[in-house]
Amino acid sequence: MLLFIGMGVLIIGLTLWNWHYDVRPRLENEAESNARVLAASHARAIESQFQNISGNTDISIIHNAINKMLLINDPNTGETLYQGIALEVDYDVFPAAYDMVNISVGVTDCSECITSENPIFIHKTGELAAILKVYANPVFYRRLVSDIVDNLALMFGGVTVVLVLAWLTSNRLLHNLRERERSLVIEIADRKSAEERLHQIAAYDQLTNLPNRYLLQADFARKLEETARSKKMLATLFFDLDHFKEINDMHGHETGDALLKEAAARVSDVTRNYDLLARFGGDEFVMIMSNVENRSDVIYVAEKIIASFKPTFSLPNADVQVTTSIGISIYPEDGDDPSELLKNADLAMYRAKADGRNGYQFFNAEMNLELQYSQWVETNLREALNNNRLELHFQPQVNLDNNNVESCEALIRWPQDEGEKVSPADFIRIAERTGLINDISSWVLEEACRHVIQWTEEGYETVRVDINLSSRDFAEKGVLYSFLPTMRRKNLKPSQIGIEITENILLESTEQVIKALSVLHNAGVHISIDDFGTGFSSLSYLKHLPLSGIKIDQSFVHEAPSNKDDLIIIQAITLVGHGFGLDVVAEGVETEWHESLCKGVGCNTMQGIYVSKPLPADRFAKKFLQKS
Ligand code: C2E
Ligand code: MG
Ligand code: MG
Repeated sequence: MLLFIGMGVLIIGLTLWNWHYDVRPRLENEAESNARVLAASHARAIESQFQNISGNTDISIIHNAINKMLLINDPNTGETLYQGIALEVDYDVFPAAYDMVNISVGVTDCSECITSENPIFIHKTGELAAILKVYANPVFYRRLVSDIVDNLALMFGGVTVVLVLAWLTSNRLLHNLRERERSLVIEIADRKSAEERLHQIAAYDQLTNLPNRYLLQADFARKLEETARSKKMLATLFFDLDHFKEINDMHGHETGDALLKEAAARVSDVTRNYDLLARFGGDEFVMIMSNVENRSDVIYVAEKIIASFKPTFSLPNADVQVTTSIGISIYPEDGDDPSELLKNADLAMYRAKADGRNGYQFFNAEMNLELQYSQWVETNLREALNNNRLELHFQPQVNLDNNNVESCEALIRWPQDEGEKVSPADFIRIAERTGLINDISSWVLEEACRHVIQWTEEGYETVRVDINLSSRDFAEKGVLYSFLPTMRRKNLKPSQIGIEITENILLESTEQVIKALSVLHNAGVHISIDDFGTGFSSLSYLKHLPLSGIKIDQSFVHEAPSNKDDLIIIQAITLVGHGFGLDVVAEGVETEWHESLCKGVGCNTMQGIYVSKPLPADRFAKKFLQKS
């Protein structure tokens, strides 16, 4: 019996294989090549949509995979049930993203039955989707069984019944066969009407039911023409959800989707009937207000949008508080075509974010200059980094009890031959925005190590060098994670290089980042909070985080002699810092008076031009390091 079952399973496998490849008819050549052209254009559309959704640029996989026609006929009538292109891709590359594309997408098993599909697919294929979805759909099932029975009957005559029973119990084998080949399918059946339906469906975002960017673009042009005739204004409001990515990462995509849906519904409620609200992509939305008489109409709507975010969002896995930032451009003064107005509104949104989020900003021409400036900085800074034209300078940190230089801060410098010098604060801000900061921070770490090694070789007793890190250095593959391996590679102790981070980084940091910081801290790396008192200071977090010191922001030190409040703040920070066993450093000490104030309140360490400005490595060593 077992032997029979085994043979049965084997034969059924072979039969399925045969059926799969032999029985299925092929399209005629011309029809096939037409279908390929159509499929290629659909694939490009899908490709760009995936790019919008996932930001994934390496998706040529879809494009290259158009290699198989899919045609399912009713074997009884010969009628084409389904005609399409199967894209053999690893669909795990796009987890759940295919739900969001505006083109019908299905995933098939190896028998070319649809195992899952996105909402547009269901909409387009209607009942057909349901038929295709059931593995053993009547047509397919009947055909399969009759094929098997015919074949087996030929081969084995009387034992057919046993083998069919064996087949019915060999679900696992079938399952494996099904899993072996997964494909994405674009339906191209009934080409003309499919395209019409596609056009209609492709205009709306499936998650929020708002018009999508394609419909937006079409309507935008029409609204501009109308506005031009009426001699009124048209406002473009470009907005997204502040920190959406973090919420998505922390609570999962399901929560992220629910948030987008709810946000869209809330903004729709404050949208006037004749305005157009569209989902532009990801968490970005655009509202077009036409026939605007004056800016106060726009401000009124912008404020209503912001207010609509105030109530807590109750989502499946979490209750979250979310804000939005809005950039606004106005026709005719900020541009006269959709792409320029969108670009300028987008630029203004970035300004609204830089100004602290949860607000709106009108575009102005300076923002364009600013964009050009940051592009110039980015290009030239990258070139300076690649050609090793950046430098590190070192500023001593002096122990207030014994006046010894016990550590120093490494500060980056960009020497420029001509033109206005760009300050570190400026170029670091731009590098943070563009992502160049990761390379800069790696360079800073390497360079700080190089100087420590060189000082030792020159016979100096070195001191701890603190480097500044940015939030991007905390991302995966950032310097935070290569720190200890670098120190090991250089044969340096982890205590020889410290790190400075700002409060806001800590507030935004995830559990994983805190763990990574703890590893560094336990290994002996000195970790201090820079510019303390300027962020969203919550003293209580000092006790939860792996810290060694805090650096009181220089603004308090500068104001302390004339402003009692600032002196009280310094006193309080010092008290709390010491209470948690942390070093307290006063930054920006410029005068003897500053020094005695800081000493008076009990700070451990001072740093500032009163002792020395930041100096190049050789001058710093000569002036502040002892010969061993
Ligand atoms: P920071 O980390 O708070 O550095 C202290 C800043 O105060 C430095 O400005 C320093 O030159 C300046 N300073 C020192 N003593 C005095 C003083 O007595 N009075 C006044 N008014 N200023 C003083 P710098 O070098 O222009 O750097 C500005 C900011 O740029 C730094 O602030 C830091 O946030 C960032 N930065 C500098 N180098 C790096 C770097 O290598 N990586 C990163 N990520 N950021 C850096
Ligand atoms: Mg610093
Ligand atoms: Mg500082």
